[in-house]
Amino acid sequence: MKTTVDESLFDRERPLSLFVRYYRYDVHLFVLDMICALLIAAIDLTFPMVTRYALSNYLPEKKYEAFFLVIGAMAAAFVLRGLMQFVVTYWGHLMGANIEMRMRYDLFSHIQKLSFPFFDRTRTGSLMSRILPELFDITELAHHGPEELLISVVSLIGATVALFMINVKLGLILALSAPLLIVIAILLRKKLSDASRRLKESTAEINSEIESCISGVRLSMAFGNEERQTEKFQNKSWLYRVAKGRYYRTMAVFHSSMESVLSVLSVFAIAAGGFWIMKDELSIVDLVAFTLYVSVFAAPIRRIAFFTEIYQSGMAGFLRFIEIMKVKPDIVNRDNAIAMDRVAGEITFTGVSFSYSREESADMILSDINLVIPAGKTTAVVGPSGGGKTTLCHLIPRFYETRSGSIKIDGTDIRDIEIASLRKNIGIVQQDVYLFAESIMENIRFGNPDADDEAILEASRKAEMHDYIMSLPDGYQTVVGERGVTLSGGQKQRISLARVFLKNPPILILDEATSALDTVTENKIKSSIERLAKGRTSVIIAHRLSTIQMADQIVYLSEKGIEEIGSHDDLMNLQGPYWRLQKMQSE
Ligand code: ADP
Ligand code: MG
Repeated sequence: MKTTVDESLFDRERPLSLFVRYYRYDVHLFVLDMICALLIAAIDLTFPMVTRYALSNYLPEKKYEAFFLVIGAMAAAFVLRGLMQFVVTYWGHLMGANIEMRMRYDLFSHIQKLSFPFFDRTRTGSLMSRILPELFDITELAHHGPEELLISVVSLIGATVALFMINVKLGLILALSAPLLIVIAILLRKKLSDASRRLKESTAEINSEIESCISGVRLSMAFGNEERQTEKFQNKSWLYRVAKGRYYRTMAVFHSSMESVLSVLSVFAIAAGGFWIMKDELSIVDLVAFTLYVSVFAAPIRRIAFFTEIYQSGMAGFLRFIEIMKVKPDIVNRDNAIAMDRVAGEITFTGVSFSYSREESADMILSDINLVIPAGKTTAVVGPSGGGKTTLCHLIPRFYETRSGSIKIDGTDIRDIEIASLRKNIGIVQQDVYLFAESIMENIRFGNPDADDEAILEASRKAEMHDYIMSLPDGYQTVVGERGVTLSGGQKQRISLARVFLKNPPILILDEATSALDTVTENKIKSSIERLAKGRTSVIIAHRLSTIQMADQIVYLSEKGIEEIGSHDDLMNLQGPYWRLQKMQSE
């Protein structure tokens, strides 16, 4: 998975040069965009000049033909300008969208390389909001940024030069007022963009409020809290309305001030021009050209204000993008890591300690664990919840790194094994199953993307899921999730089992994989689990002890560490914690 811009560059380069790198594959669009932008600015600048020339040279001499020829040429130029406008709007935005797409792609490739600890620290929601809307602001910057800047600078300089050529005094007035106008415009824009940011924040807030109210509707019905919820909702809704009101006020101030300042400028130019005409220092024709330039002049001032705004929001988005791109995966392949083929599956823990926190003083979740999980046998892990069973299992595929000690598979330290090949050898069924919003067929295929449909049906038969799936109107093509059917917890777990059947790994980890099943169904798939476990190294975590009595070895794990190891009969004879747990469950 290679990214558009090499990940190592994110540490070394400045944001702006990273940003420029994203144009790499769109240089042609960029050049096209810039040329068209330049032509647009050039046509805008020539119009008053040509008008002035035609008015002062052809009209008095009654060269009507030449006059209308020039005016006709100008009309044609404006049609051309329209075409350029189309190119800039369409291909320019397309370039922005391409750049956005590449960034989104880089972000996702990068996120996939990050490890479990990163996802513990970062909320999925905040990642989503980074992948989507903020990158949109970047698109706008990528496209409008260089273009706006070019058009504004060219037309400002061009208009100023032309104004000076027409009349030095009038030119001076405008040249001096330009910086002032730009400052005013930027300040007003800044107010507007602050207001727009606040509005966005409160939109996000009200949206999550709406979502939580609607998702909780059944709960409010159950507790009879509908009225309270409605009131709470109305409050939020009012606050949102207040935020909108503030935004519109700022917007009104912005537009009315901008427009009046610019109109006053035109009027002022006419007044000054009129004054000089009366003193015979300026001709009417020059005044016409002059007023035309004043309007050319006003456009870049608006544009520069707009540019500062998209620059701010686009760069803010880009900086947050860089921030994620800079996060280093906690768990990476060693340089000389070896790719393992199918392992036999003996797992040994030697003096393994682990804590989720990176702090030295943090309490260990697991400390000094020594355990041999024999190849091809079933090892059950039981104990109180919070005892560290899931944690222990997550260390085997290297979702997390041990603090000290080592875990070996077939005698090889897992840190010396290529991560992908390590994980290929391990199949996990977790307590909460994640299903993609796709068909059941594709969800099962996730276990082995190369599998054909027949293998998928076979796996789903083994997981005792086939009959149910066939009873659905669309069978295996049924889409699950939000817009599809809702599966029960037990059905999800069976899909997850089918995935593992399909993956067919030598090492199997079932983390309370049957906890969502009722006893009847559990008994039904008990045999399919036994079939799945046969000939594999299986680690089975179970709440209900009835499911693990047949295990070759049972490990009792609690906060104190491994308290007991042995077969069911051994541990029953010991009358220790396992026996007590057993007694409690049978009562
Ligand atoms: P079990 O599976 O035996 O119920 P776990 O391994 O899930 O226990 O949890 C062991 C301890 O580790 C618990 O105290 C739990 O709060 C903590 N823990 C589990 N997952 C995380 C995590 N991702 N980040 C921080 N602490 C965690
Ligand atoms: Mg657990």
